[in-house]
Amino acid sequence: MEIFKSLGEFRAWRDRLAEHEIKSGARLKMGFVPTMGALHEGHASLLRQSASDNEITILSIYVNPTQFNRPDDLAKYPRTTGQDLEIAHRCGVDAVLIPTASEDLYPDQYTFQIVEKEFSKILEGEHRPGHFEGMLTVVLKLLNVARASKAYFGEKDFQQLALVRGMAKAFFLQTEIVGCPTIRESDGLAMSSRNLRLSKSDRLIAPKLFSAMTEFSNLADARKVLEEIGFKVDYLVDHTHEGSTRRLVAASLGEVRLIDNVPVKGFNEGAAP
Ligand code: AMP
Repeated sequence: MEIFKSLGEFRAWRDRLAEHEIKSGARLKMGFVPTMGALHEGHASLLRQSASDNEITILSIYVNPTQFNRPDDLAKYPRTTGQDLEIAHRCGVDAVLIPTASEDLYPDQYTFQIVEKEFSKILEGEHRPGHFEGMLTVVLKLLNVARASKAYFGEKDFQQLALVRGMAKAFFLQTEIVGCPTIRESDGLAMSSRNLRLSKSDRLIAPKLFSAMTEFSNLADARKVLEEIGFKVDYLVDHTHEGSTRRLVAASLGEVRLIDNVPVKGFNEGAAP
């Protein structure tokens, strides 16, 4: 497994692969999984999917400062690089890009930005100003340097996946965006790097986020239950985007903000009107 800490070295490796493709006349299938590290089974499922679909799998690990709207959230974001590399190796990753200098990705000092004006302004976008601009901008940069055939994103971050898909369509990107199902702990809690920051007692309460979403058909009842057990709820809504309805939630336990979503079709079908 190759490990690149500078964008320049990574791009030189990627160029060599392109030359090899030209010489051999055979196009390599390449999969790309962008992450912020602190890898868990959710990330591993994306990496395994990529390794089974493609000949080459590229992982990036970069805690992107421009998508954090709270300095404390950025400072406390878990960093577990040694363990991440072991997981990457086990999942069949061929190359890891871990840019250590932000100037590498932002030679423009973040003066150029990707702005989406509708779906990015509600839900997460409303509660985390600037988050989606930062995310879309860094994802576009990473997609351009990876030049993969497919890139893998989790449904766990539903709005992110929809916006990346929208960006790929709007800008005629060459990489196909593949959505992958949410991986959960056995108690239902969606896996997230931020779960590492939950206190022992909050970790016991956290799975209620998922159970409240799935067990109540009435959103006000679900919200009330969550607030009674100590969540600060930012939103809990059913939202229809491009024909499919999801139930989306964001809520904090102490300083740790969690998000989750489930398809609405299925669990409340047949519920009393
Ligand atoms: P992050 O490192 O949190 O930026 O996530 C990197 C990628 O992994 C994103 O596409 C996420 O949606 C995806 N991901 C994070 N958690 C999960 C999970 N529990 N199940 C599936 N995908 C996930």
